Amino acid sequence: MRELEELILKKGKVLEGNILKVDSFLNQQVDCAMMKLIGNEFANYFKDKNITKVLTVESSGIAPAMFTAMDLDCDLVFARKKKSLTIEDNIYKSTVYSYTKQEMKEIMVSKDFIKENDNILLIDDFLANGQAAKAMIALCKQAGANVCGIGIVIEKSFQKGRKLLDEMDMDVYSLARIKSLSTEGIEFED
Ligand code: 5GP
Repeated sequence: MRELEELILKKGKVLEGNILKVDSFLNQQVDCAMMKLIGNEFANYFKDKNITKVLTVESSGIAPAMFTAMDLDCDLVFARKKKSLTIEDNIYKSTVYSYTKQEMKEIMVSKDFIKENDNILLIDDFLANGQAAKAMIALCKQAGANVCGIGIVIEKSFQKGRKLLDEMDMDVYSLARIKSLSTEGIEFED
C-alpha cells in the first residue's frame, strides 16, 4: 500500500534490534485517516470470506482492527494481555513471546466472544517472528473457530513470521512488506 509505505519512510525510526518505531501514527498516536484506508484495504481483500469477527491483541492492533471490523460490518474482539478483575475463569488463553519486550506473556479472551461457528480474521500491527499470530490462532483453535485470514499492517519479511504462517497455510495479507531495515534506510519488497 503506497500511502502506508510513504508514511513509514517519512515518520518511521529504525531502532537497535531490527525494531521499527512508528509510534507517531500507529503505536501511540494514531493516524485515523491512515487507519481508515488500512481498514478499507483489509476489508476489501477479505470481503468474500464471510468474516463474523475480527480478532487482535491489545493494544496496538486495536486501531487497524477496529476500522477493518467497521468495514466488514462485524464486531472486533481483542485478546487481553493482563487478567483484569472483570475477567472470570471462562477464558481461552495462550502464551506468546513478545518481540519488543523480550518476555513471555499470556494472552486471553473470554469464551463468550469466540464461538465454534465464527469465521475469524486476525489483524496485527506487525509481523516479526509470528508469535503473536500463532498465539491468536491457538485461541481460535481452542474455541473451534475457523481462522479465515491474517491482515498485517507492517511485515518485516526478513524475519521468520511470514514463512511460519505460510507453512500453516494461512492467507496472509500484509500492507507494507519490509525487505531490509537499518539506520541507512528502509527497503520494501516489490
Ligand atoms: P511477532 O509475534 O510476529 O514476533 O511480533 C509481532 C508483535 O511484536 C507485534 O504485535 C508488535 O507489537 C511487536 N513488534 C514486532 N516487531 C516490531 C517492530 O519492529 N516495531 C514495533 N513497534 N513493534 C514490533
